[in-house]
Amino acid sequence: MELITKEQRKEFYHSVEWQRLRQQALLRDNYECQWCKSNGKVSEGVLEVDHIKDIEHYPESATDLANLRTLCKDCHNKRHNRMNYSSRKKHRKPPKWNDERWD
Ligand SMILES: [Zn+2]
Repeated sequence: MELITKEQRKEFYHSVEWQRLRQQALLRDNYECQWCKSNGKVSEGVLEVDHIKDIEHYPESATDLANLRTLCKDCHNKRHNRMNYSSRKKHRKPPKWNDERWD
């Protein structure tokens, strides 16, 4: 699938294939936000499925289940910096998230 233009990506997110993949990711992640979970919190609110490697730059990973993770809307927004943190960037460093935290 070509995901070069914005329109193509929009189309992708409306495709049956994506709906199915999304469902698989949610199921695999137990309908839990992976960030909240690793932070010891229980996620509340709307769950979304995030592409770890964004499809804009990694279209070949768009349909790879291993590239998907469940995030709640809040975390998803943080992840994509949809909120404006720029004025207090110095005070609020984003937490370090990685897959090697098992403690
Ligand atoms: Zn979350």
